[in-house]
Amino acid sequence: MKCEDAQELITALVDKQVSDQERSSIESHLKDCQRCRFIYEQEQALKREIGAAGARLHAPAGLRSKILSDRRIFPGPERSSGSWTERILPAWSFPRPALALALAVVLILPMLYFMRTPSEPISLAAVEIQRKIIGGEISVRKMSNLDELRKWQIRAVNGEFTPMEYDLSSMNMLPVGGVVQEVNGRKTLVTVYTGNGLTITCFTFLGTEEDAPKIASVFFDPEKKMNFYSFSKDGLNAVLHREGSIICILVSNMPGDELLALVRAKVQPS
Ligand SMILES: [Zn+2]
Repeated sequence: MKCEDAQELITALVDKQVSDQERSSIESHLKDCQRCRFIYEQEQALKREIGAAGARLHAPAGLRSKILSDRRIFPGPERSSGSWTERILPAWSFPRPALALALAVVLILPMLYFMRTPSEPISLAAVEIQRKIIGGEISVRKMSNLDELRKWQIRAVNGEFTPMEYDLSSMNMLPVGGVVQEVNGRKTLVTVYTGNGLTITCFTFLGTEEDAPKIASVFFDPEKKMNFYSFSKDGLNAVLHREGSIICILVSNMPGDELLALVRAKVQPS
């Protein structure tokens, strides 16, 4: 096998898409040819890098389907065949797979980087999470036993903090489940209460009052000597307050002033 032929097959070998016969001939070439072996190792390393970068970065929702449905990028219905470099750069062919790979890295990684969802304040992200919970996009772990839910959540944050919880039974609202979400790298404990056609979701995370969004109106409760930050987004109302190093946000479909009154009534002055 000549170097040229070997290099044609290197990407396929990295992708484990070679026949047994191709594999044995390329492997025997790689044993003898330092140059091709170097290219092979580089490709393996690059594939690992891209895989790791892909796991770290998240493209905006809908981007994948937008790209897949763009006929300029994928003209035909068969798009699952070919190596991964061909899938990324299908329109171009390169005599040197390593060059195609290098270009893929240079072009795609910065693109992924810039297409990351801009990080919004954790408080607004909480409202978004609540919207997704209501819409069924985020499924909560169903647990009506608050103790059990609480233990599970505390374990999820390695005991660093405990979820804030409320007794809303006087309003016929009961905890139905919870979930742990990571928002901008911060673990957030989420507990959902429902009843009477209302949903109140409690978000607990480590933070400061700086985590309140700029749009919030601040209410100082002189009796409890605490600030309450009230804000709305996408038809949902939210109230944020701080207890020590813990931030609690309640997000609900109940009117904003009622939610504020409820939080003020439920909070124990420290
Ligand atoms: Zn060679």
